[in-house]
Amino acid sequence: MSVTVDNVLQALSRVLDPDLKKDLVSLGMIRDIEVSDLKVSFSVVLTTPACPLKESIKSSCIQAIHDWVHPDAEVQVNLSARVTTVNRSDGSSLKTVKNIIAVASGKGGVGKTTVAANIALSLAKSGARTALVDADIYGPSLPLMFGLVNEPIRAIQVNGQTKAIPLRKHGIDLLSIGFFVDASKALIWRGPLASSALKQLFFDTQWGEIDYMIVDLPPGTGDIHLSLVQSVPLTGAVIVTTPHELAIADATKAVNMFNNENIHVPILGVVENMSWFTPAELPSNRYYIFGDGGGVKMANDLKLTLLGQLPLIAPNNQSGIYVDNDMLSASQQLQPYFDSIVANLVRQVSISNAQKQELKTALP
Ligand code: ADP
Repeated sequence: MSVTVDNVLQALSRVLDPDLKKDLVSLGMIRDIEVSDLKVSFSVVLTTPACPLKESIKSSCIQAIHDWVHPDAEVQVNLSARVTTVNRSDGSSLKTVKNIIAVASGKGGVGKTTVAANIALSLAKSGARTALVDADIYGPSLPLMFGLVNEPIRAIQVNGQTKAIPLRKHGIDLLSIGFFVDASKALIWRGPLASSALKQLFFDTQWGEIDYMIVDLPPGTGDIHLSLVQSVPLTGAVIVTTPHELAIADATKAVNMFNNENIHVPILGVVENMSWFTPAELPSNRYYIFGDGGGVKMANDLKLTLLGQLPLIAPNNQSGIYVDNDMLSASQQLQPYFDSIVANLVRQVSISNAQKQELKTALP
Protein backbone atom coordinates (compact mmCIF):
# COMPACT_ATOMS: atom_id res chain seq x y z
CA MET A 1 0.00 0.00 0.00
CA SER A 2 1.31 3.51 -0.72
CA VAL A 3 1.89 6.02 2.04
CA THR A 4 -0.99 8.50 1.73
CA VAL A 5 -3.03 10.44 4.28
CA ASP A 6 -6.09 8.33 3.43
CA ASN A 7 -4.24 5.06 3.95
CA VAL A 8 -2.85 6.30 7.26
CA LEU A 9 -6.36 7.23 8.39
CA GLN A 10 -7.69 3.83 7.33
CA ALA A 11 -4.95 2.04 9.27
CA LEU A 12 -5.54 4.14 12.38
CA SER A 13 -9.26 3.45 12.22
CA ARG A 14 -8.32 -0.13 13.15
CA VAL A 15 -6.81 1.01 16.46
CA LEU A 16 -9.26 0.96 19.37
CA ASP A 17 -9.09 3.11 22.49
CA PRO A 18 -8.86 0.33 25.11
CA ASP A 19 -11.21 2.08 27.55
CA LEU A 20 -13.76 3.57 25.20
CA LYS A 21 -13.76 0.52 22.86
CA LYS A 22 -14.04 2.71 19.76
CA ASP A 23 -11.52 3.49 17.07
CA LEU A 24 -9.24 6.50 17.39
CA VAL A 25 -10.38 8.07 14.11
CA SER A 26 -14.10 8.05 14.87
CA LEU A 27 -13.34 9.33 18.39
CA GLY A 28 -11.66 12.34 16.74
CA MET A 29 -8.36 11.56 18.43
CA ILE A 30 -6.17 11.69 15.30
CA ARG A 31 -4.95 15.10 14.09
CA ASP A 32 -2.37 16.73 11.79
CA ILE A 33 -1.44 13.77 9.59
CA GLU A 34 1.58 14.50 7.39
CA VAL A 35 3.23 12.12 4.93
CA SER A 36 6.39 12.47 2.86
CA ASP A 37 7.88 9.39 1.13
CA LEU A 38 8.11 6.82 3.92
CA LYS A 39 7.79 9.39 6.70
CA VAL A 40 4.46 9.56 8.55
CA SER A 41 3.64 11.86 11.44
CA PHE A 42 0.39 12.57 13.26
CA SER A 43 -0.94 13.63 16.66
CA VAL A 44 -3.03 11.51 18.99
CA VAL A 45 -5.20 13.65 21.26
CA LEU A 46 -5.64 11.69 24.49
CA THR A 47 -8.63 12.18 26.78
CA THR A 48 -6.43 13.28 29.70
CA PRO A 49 -2.77 14.18 30.29
CA ALA A 50 -2.79 11.55 33.05
CA CYS A 51 -3.72 8.83 30.51
CA PRO A 52 -2.20 5.57 31.82
CA LEU A 53 -2.43 3.95 28.40
CA LYS A 54 -0.53 6.51 26.35
CA GLU A 55 2.45 4.27 25.60
CA SER A 56 0.29 1.32 24.59
CA ILE A 57 -1.90 3.52 22.34
CA LYS A 58 1.24 4.96 20.73
CA SER A 59 2.74 1.54 19.99
CA SER A 60 -0.60 0.23 18.62
CA CYS A 61 -0.66 3.20 16.20
CA ILE A 62 2.89 2.51 14.99
CA GLN A 63 2.07 -1.19 14.60
CA ALA A 64 -1.07 -0.39 12.57
CA ILE A 65 0.92 1.81 10.13
CA HIS A 66 3.55 -0.92 9.70
CA ASP A 67 0.91 -3.64 9.24
CA TRP A 68 -1.50 -1.80 6.95
CA VAL A 69 0.40 1.01 5.21
CA HIS A 70 4.07 0.17 4.81
CA PRO A 71 6.37 -2.11 6.87
CA ASP A 72 9.27 0.35 6.53
CA ALA A 73 7.35 3.54 7.33
CA GLU A 74 9.13 5.91 9.74
CA VAL A 75 6.34 6.80 12.14
CA GLN A 76 6.34 9.77 14.49
CA VAL A 77 3.44 9.95 16.96
CA ASN A 78 2.91 13.19 18.91
CA LEU A 79 0.81 12.81 22.04
CA SER A 80 -1.29 15.67 23.36
CA ALA A 81 -4.34 15.81 25.61
CA ARG A 82 -7.81 17.29 25.56
CA VAL A 83 -9.70 16.36 28.69
CA THR A 84 -13.19 15.10 27.92
CA THR A 85 -16.26 16.72 29.34
CA VAL A 86 -19.98 16.50 28.85
CA ASN A 87 -21.20 19.78 27.39
CA ARG A 88 -23.25 21.56 29.98
CA SER A 89 -25.62 24.35 29.19
CA ASP A 90 -25.26 26.18 32.52
CA GLY A 91 -23.95 29.68 32.02
CA SER A 92 -22.57 29.80 35.56
CA SER A 93 -19.05 30.49 36.71
CA LEU A 94 -18.48 26.72 36.58
CA LYS A 95 -18.75 26.66 32.78
CA THR A 96 -14.96 26.66 32.39
CA VAL A 97 -14.65 23.58 34.60
CA LYS A 98 -14.63 20.36 32.56
CA ASN A 99 -15.10 17.75 35.29
CA ILE A 100 -16.29 18.12 38.88
CA ILE A 101 -15.55 15.10 41.06
CA ALA A 102 -16.94 14.82 44.59
CA VAL A 103 -14.96 12.88 47.18
CA ALA A 104 -17.39 11.50 49.74
CA SER A 105 -17.52 9.18 52.72
CA GLY A 106 -20.30 8.03 54.94
CA LYS A 107 -18.19 8.43 58.06
CA GLY A 108 -15.77 11.11 59.27
CA GLY A 109 -12.13 10.29 59.93
CA VAL A 110 -11.72 7.70 57.15
CA GLY A 111 -9.29 9.90 55.20
CA LYS A 112 -11.65 11.64 52.77
CA THR A 113 -9.76 14.95 52.92
CA THR A 114 -6.38 13.23 52.67
CA VAL A 115 -7.61 11.35 49.58
CA ALA A 116 -9.16 14.46 47.97
CA ALA A 117 -6.01 16.55 48.49
CA ASN A 118 -3.63 13.87 47.24
CA ILE A 119 -5.76 13.07 44.18
CA ALA A 120 -5.56 16.79 43.34
CA LEU A 121 -1.77 16.78 43.83
CA SER A 122 -1.31 13.75 41.55
CA LEU A 123 -3.56 15.26 38.87
CA ALA A 124 -1.68 18.57 38.94
CA LYS A 125 1.62 16.68 38.72
CA SER A 126 0.37 14.87 35.60
CA GLY A 127 -0.16 18.23 33.88
CA ALA A 128 -3.93 18.52 34.33
CA ARG A 129 -5.37 21.90 35.32
CA THR A 130 -6.70 21.11 38.77
CA ALA A 131 -8.83 22.78 41.43
CA LEU A 132 -9.58 21.58 44.96
CA VAL A 133 -12.66 22.81 46.79
CA ASP A 134 -12.98 22.17 50.49
CA ALA A 135 -16.73 21.91 50.99
CA ASP A 136 -16.34 20.22 54.38
CA ILE A 137 -18.36 22.84 56.14
CA TYR A 138 -18.05 21.17 59.54
CA GLY A 139 -14.29 20.84 59.55
CA PRO A 140 -12.54 22.74 56.76
CA SER A 141 -8.97 21.50 56.92
CA LEU A 142 -7.40 22.54 53.61
CA PRO A 143 -6.12 25.91 54.89
CA LEU A 144 -4.08 24.08 57.54
CA MET A 145 -3.15 21.20 55.29
CA PHE A 146 -1.79 23.51 52.58
CA GLY A 147 -0.21 25.99 54.98
CA LEU A 148 -2.67 28.75 53.99
CA VAL A 149 -4.21 29.70 57.33
CA ASN A 150 -4.83 33.49 57.46
CA GLU A 151 -3.93 33.85 53.79
CA PRO A 152 -6.04 36.76 52.44
CA ILE A 153 -8.48 36.00 49.64
CA ARG A 154 -8.68 38.51 46.80
CA ALA A 155 -11.87 39.41 44.99
CA ILE A 156 -12.59 41.02 41.63
CA GLN A 157 -15.65 42.55 40.01
CA VAL A 158 -17.05 40.61 37.05
CA ASN A 159 -20.11 42.15 35.33
CA GLY A 160 -20.99 43.99 38.52
CA GLN A 161 -20.63 40.90 40.72
CA THR A 162 -17.95 40.27 43.30
CA LYS A 163 -16.02 37.06 42.62
CA ALA A 164 -13.39 35.42 44.83
CA ILE A 165 -10.05 34.39 43.30
CA PRO A 166 -8.88 30.91 44.39
CA LEU A 167 -5.47 30.63 46.07
CA ARG A 168 -2.82 28.73 44.13
CA LYS A 169 -0.41 26.26 45.71
CA HIS A 170 1.45 23.20 44.41
CA GLY A 171 -0.11 23.93 40.99
CA ILE A 172 -3.67 23.64 42.34
CA ASP A 173 -6.40 26.33 42.52
CA LEU A 174 -7.67 26.04 46.07
CA LEU A 175 -10.80 27.28 47.76
CA SER A 176 -12.07 26.47 51.23
CA ILE A 177 -14.91 27.67 53.35
CA GLY A 178 -12.13 28.03 55.94
CA PHE A 179 -10.61 30.92 53.92
CA PHE A 180 -13.74 32.99 54.64
CA VAL A 181 -14.68 32.01 58.19
CA ASP A 182 -12.93 30.82 61.28
CA ALA A 183 -12.92 26.99 61.13
CA SER A 184 -14.40 26.78 64.64
CA LYS A 185 -17.35 29.00 63.61
CA ALA A 186 -18.09 26.93 60.51
CA LEU A 187 -18.84 24.03 62.82
CA ILE A 188 -22.05 25.60 64.11
CA TRP A 189 -23.59 26.23 60.67
CA ARG A 190 -26.68 24.26 59.97
CA GLY A 191 -28.96 23.40 57.06
CA PRO A 192 -29.87 26.28 54.73
CA LEU A 193 -27.08 28.59 55.93
CA ALA A 194 -24.44 25.96 55.24
CA SER A 195 -26.02 25.14 51.86
CA SER A 196 -26.07 28.74 50.68
CA ALA A 197 -22.49 29.32 51.87
CA LEU A 198 -21.42 26.28 49.88
CA LYS A 199 -23.19 27.41 46.74
CA GLN A 200 -21.43 30.76 47.01
CA LEU A 201 -18.13 28.93 47.20
CA PHE A 202 -18.79 27.37 43.79
CA PHE A 203 -20.71 30.08 41.99
CA ASP A 204 -19.22 33.33 43.35
CA THR A 205 -15.67 32.40 42.38
CA GLN A 206 -13.76 33.33 39.27
CA TRP A 207 -12.64 29.87 38.09
CA GLY A 208 -10.25 29.67 35.17
CA GLU A 209 -10.00 26.79 32.70
CA ILE A 210 -9.99 23.68 34.88
CA ASP A 211 -9.77 20.04 33.73
CA TYR A 212 -10.62 18.45 37.07
CA MET A 213 -12.20 20.07 40.11
CA ILE A 214 -11.98 17.83 43.17
CA VAL A 215 -14.57 18.55 45.87
CA ASP A 216 -14.02 17.43 49.44
CA LEU A 217 -17.60 16.93 50.67
CA PRO A 218 -18.59 16.94 54.34
CA PRO A 219 -18.96 13.39 55.74
CA GLY A 220 -22.44 11.89 55.78
CA THR A 221 -25.50 11.96 53.56
CA GLY A 222 -27.64 14.80 54.90
CA ASP A 223 -29.58 17.73 53.43
CA ILE A 224 -26.43 19.72 52.73
CA HIS A 225 -25.21 16.95 50.44
CA LEU A 226 -28.50 16.73 48.63
CA SER A 227 -28.62 20.46 48.06
CA LEU A 228 -25.01 20.57 46.85
CA VAL A 229 -25.30 17.52 44.64
CA GLN A 230 -28.41 18.97 43.03
CA SER A 231 -26.98 22.43 42.37
CA VAL A 232 -23.42 21.62 41.28
CA PRO A 233 -23.14 19.65 38.01
CA LEU A 234 -21.05 16.72 39.24
CA THR A 235 -19.27 14.42 36.79
CA GLY A 236 -19.20 11.69 39.43
CA ALA A 237 -18.22 10.72 42.94
CA VAL A 238 -15.39 8.85 44.61
CA ILE A 239 -16.27 6.98 47.81
CA VAL A 240 -13.63 6.70 50.53
CA THR A 241 -13.87 4.08 53.25
CA THR A 242 -11.66 2.09 55.59
CA PRO A 243 -12.02 -1.72 55.58
CA HIS A 244 -13.87 -1.53 58.93
CA GLU A 245 -17.44 -2.81 58.81
CA LEU A 246 -18.93 0.32 60.39
CA ALA A 247 -17.19 2.52 57.81
CA ILE A 248 -18.43 0.20 55.04
CA ALA A 249 -22.02 0.42 56.30
CA ASP A 250 -21.87 4.23 56.13
CA ALA A 251 -20.04 4.26 52.80
CA THR A 252 -22.84 2.09 51.38
CA LYS A 253 -25.32 4.79 52.48
CA ALA A 254 -23.27 7.36 50.54
CA VAL A 255 -23.36 5.11 47.45
CA ASN A 256 -27.14 4.82 47.80
CA MET A 257 -27.45 8.60 48.02
CA PHE A 258 -25.58 9.13 44.73
CA ASN A 259 -27.56 6.32 43.09
CA ASN A 260 -30.88 7.81 44.21
CA GLU A 261 -33.09 8.38 41.17
CA ASN A 262 -33.44 12.11 41.88
CA ILE A 263 -29.69 12.53 42.05
CA HIS A 264 -28.15 10.00 39.71
CA VAL A 265 -24.49 10.92 40.08
CA PRO A 266 -22.23 8.14 38.69
CA ILE A 267 -19.91 6.53 41.23
CA LEU A 268 -16.45 6.63 39.64
CA GLY A 269 -15.00 4.22 42.18
CA VAL A 270 -14.04 3.29 45.72
CA VAL A 271 -10.81 4.06 47.58
CA GLU A 272 -10.03 1.80 50.53
CA ASN A 273 -7.87 3.76 52.97
CA MET A 274 -5.88 2.48 55.98
CA SER A 275 -5.96 -0.99 54.41
CA TRP A 276 -2.91 -2.33 56.24
CA PHE A 277 0.06 -1.20 58.28
CA THR A 278 3.67 -2.16 57.61
CA PRO A 279 6.10 -1.27 60.40
CA ALA A 280 9.45 0.13 59.22
CA GLU A 281 11.33 -2.67 61.01
CA LEU A 282 9.24 -5.43 59.32
CA PRO A 283 8.94 -4.18 55.74
CA SER A 284 7.45 -7.39 54.33
CA ASN A 285 4.70 -7.69 56.94
CA ARG A 286 1.17 -6.36 56.55
CA TYR A 287 -1.13 -5.95 59.53
CA TYR A 288 -4.81 -5.54 58.71
CA ILE A 289 -5.75 -3.33 61.64
CA PHE A 290 -9.29 -2.43 60.47
CA GLY A 291 -9.98 -5.83 58.83
CA ASP A 292 -8.88 -7.24 55.51
CA GLY A 293 -10.41 -6.02 52.24
CA GLY A 294 -13.75 -4.57 53.43
CA GLY A 295 -13.63 -1.86 50.73
CA VAL A 296 -12.64 -4.37 48.05
CA LYS A 297 -15.61 -6.54 48.96
CA MET A 298 -17.95 -3.54 49.01
CA ALA A 299 -16.78 -2.51 45.51
CA ASN A 300 -17.32 -6.08 44.26
CA ASP A 301 -20.73 -6.46 45.88
CA LEU A 302 -21.99 -3.12 44.55
CA LYS A 303 -20.31 -3.60 41.13
CA LEU A 304 -18.17 -0.50 41.55
CA THR A 305 -14.60 0.06 40.40
CA LEU A 306 -11.95 -0.30 43.10
CA LEU A 307 -9.68 2.67 42.38
CA GLY A 308 -7.06 1.47 44.86
CA GLN A 309 -6.02 0.70 48.42
CA LEU A 310 -3.81 2.87 50.63
CA PRO A 311 -1.71 1.66 53.53
CA LEU A 312 -1.88 3.24 56.96
CA ILE A 313 1.33 5.18 57.36
CA ALA A 314 2.87 6.60 60.48
CA PRO A 315 2.56 10.39 60.05
CA ASN A 316 5.71 12.23 61.04
CA ASN A 317 3.82 14.57 63.32
CA GLN A 318 0.95 14.12 65.71
CA SER A 319 -1.81 15.91 63.92
CA GLY A 320 -1.95 14.17 60.58
CA ILE A 321 -0.81 14.12 56.96
CA TYR A 322 -0.08 17.53 55.54
CA VAL A 323 1.07 18.50 52.12
CA ASP A 324 3.04 21.59 52.96
CA ASN A 325 6.63 22.38 53.90
CA ASP A 326 8.51 19.83 55.99
CA MET A 327 5.38 17.76 56.37
CA LEU A 328 5.31 16.97 52.65
CA SER A 329 7.27 13.76 53.25
CA ALA A 330 4.38 11.92 54.97
CA SER A 331 2.22 12.62 51.97
CA GLN A 332 4.99 11.55 49.60
CA GLN A 333 4.97 8.04 51.05
CA LEU A 334 1.47 7.68 49.69
CA GLN A 335 2.17 9.30 46.30
CA PRO A 336 2.87 6.09 44.31
CA TYR A 337 -0.47 4.72 45.53
CA PHE A 338 -2.21 7.96 44.58
CA ASP A 339 -0.64 8.02 41.11
CA SER A 340 -2.20 4.63 40.46
CA ILE A 341 -5.56 5.68 41.97
CA VAL A 342 -5.57 8.79 39.73
CA ALA A 343 -4.73 6.73 36.62
CA ASN A 344 -7.78 4.57 37.37
CA LEU A 345 -9.94 7.59 38.18
CA VAL A 346 -9.24 9.51 34.96
CA ARG A 347 -10.07 6.36 32.98
CA GLN A 348 -13.40 6.14 34.74
CA VAL A 349 -14.08 9.83 34.02
CA SER A 350 -13.35 9.34 30.30
CA ILE A 351 -15.55 6.23 30.17
CA SER A 352 -18.38 7.91 32.07
CA ASN A 353 -18.23 11.03 29.83
CA ALA A 354 -18.24 8.89 26.69
CA GLN A 355 -21.30 6.99 27.97
CA LYS A 356 -23.14 10.19 28.90
CA GLN A 357 -22.31 11.75 25.53
CA GLU A 358 -23.65 8.66 23.73
CA LEU A 359 -26.82 8.81 25.78
CA LYS A 360 -27.22 12.52 24.94
CA THR A 361 -26.73 11.86 21.23
CA ALA A 362 -29.18 8.96 21.32
CA LEU A 363 -31.92 11.01 23.00
CA PRO A 364 -34.39 12.69 20.60
P1 ADP B 1 -11.81 12.75 56.90
O1 ADP B 1 -11.71 13.83 55.88
O2 ADP B 1 -12.47 11.50 56.38
O3 ADP B 1 -12.38 13.19 58.18
P2 ADP B 1 -8.93 12.99 57.12
O4 ADP B 1 -8.40 12.95 55.73
O5 ADP B 1 -9.01 14.32 57.81
O6 ADP B 1 -10.32 12.25 57.21
O7 ADP B 1 -8.05 11.97 57.98
C1 ADP B 1 -8.28 11.78 59.35
C2 ADP B 1 -6.92 11.60 60.03
O8 ADP B 1 -6.34 10.39 59.56
C3 ADP B 1 -5.93 12.72 59.68
O9 ADP B 1 -5.16 12.97 60.80
C4 ADP B 1 -5.10 12.11 58.55
O10 ADP B 1 -3.81 12.65 58.51
C5 ADP B 1 -5.06 10.64 58.97
N1 ADP B 1 -4.91 9.73 57.82
C6 ADP B 1 -5.66 9.65 56.71
N2 ADP B 1 -5.24 8.66 55.90
C7 ADP B 1 -4.17 8.10 56.50
C8 ADP B 1 -3.27 7.02 56.17
N3 ADP B 1 -3.41 6.31 55.05
N4 ADP B 1 -2.28 6.74 57.06
C9 ADP B 1 -2.15 7.45 58.20
N5 ADP B 1 -2.95 8.44 58.57
C10 ADP B 1 -3.95 8.78 57.75
